[in-house]
Amino acid sequence: MPLKNSQYDAILRTYQNTQLENKHRQDLCIQTAYEKIPKLSEIDRQISSLCVGRAKKLLAGDENALDDLKEQICFLSMQRTQALQEHGFPSDYLELHYTCPDCKDTGFIDNEKCHCFKQKEIDLLYMQSNVREVLETENFSKFTYRYYSTKMINPATGLSALDTAKKVVGECKNFLFSFDTTPGNLFFYGDTGVGKTFLSHCIAKWLIDRSHSVIYFSAFQLFDLFAKYTFSRAEDAMEFYPYVFDCDLLIIDDLGTELTNTFVSAQLFLCINERLIRQKSTIISTNLPMDRFSDTYSERVFSRITSNYTMCKLIGDDIRIQKKLSGRKA
Ligand SMILES: [Zn+2]
Repeated sequence: MPLKNSQYDAILRTYQNTQLENKHRQDLCIQTAYEKIPKLSEIDRQISSLCVGRAKKLLAGDENALDDLKEQICFLSMQRTQALQEHGFPSDYLELHYTCPDCKDTGFIDNEKCHCFKQKEIDLLYMQSNVREVLETENFSKFTYRYYSTKMINPATGLSALDTAKKVVGECKNFLFSFDTTPGNLFFYGDTGVGKTFLSHCIAKWLIDRSHSVIYFSAFQLFDLFAKYTFSRAEDAMEFYPYVFDCDLLIIDDLGTELTNTFVSAQLFLCINERLIRQKSTIISTNLPMDRFSDTYSERVFSRITSNYTMCKLIGDDIRIQKKLSGRKA
């Protein structure tokens, strides 16, 4: 990976800080619980002395030490959990909580970089701060069905704009819930202002909050990167290029707004195809109607998408205009 040593060290330092912060948080929890539940420290003292005793016996060659003490430790642990619950604490209150449970805040799983490490690399190389700001206001907690009409009907499905949106949100949630086990791909299409970009942001936020590596590009930015990589070999493009294929989720927003030519079409195919091979998820959104989409890009792009993506069509009146109108009324 093209990280400079100083960048690599900077990322490792963030892990050390996270570990310290989480340890500090745990210490505070222990302190609070000990103050509220006096018998807790006695239980913990007994557990740790049993553990020391067990280690000594094991060292002395007593193979059965494990079984003998296991039951006692188990009993004490149950008492501990019970005491916590009786005082209104969650049962895992005293445990160390990891920001990324997958790598336990080390950045690595079996010597491979964890997805959270990759997101840090992406953030470092490609300042996503503009997107991060947007994600604070465009996420599932801010999503509303208010702007989707019950009167507008999609003649092809018989569903209203509202029911269509509910169905698509359901697809988004399925996509997220199976994200770690079965990578999927979503294709949002429909007119301007029906919520395609908003939903992409919701998904991005959900995954970034769970330490997944997500890259968000407008189509224009993506093809600009590919052009810089291919024609001018610009340093920043060279550094960032591998992440486009390797991140957990790539979002290509507003496909069809870029200047389309054979280069763009070939790069789009390469990108989509490579990510399918690597089993990495991709989300594409476009304002282009389906028939125009296949004309704009090659048939092979169209066929990869229709056979590997969940097609999500949204309908409705332009939400941005609705918001402006309702703002004016208020
Ligand atoms: Zn991790």
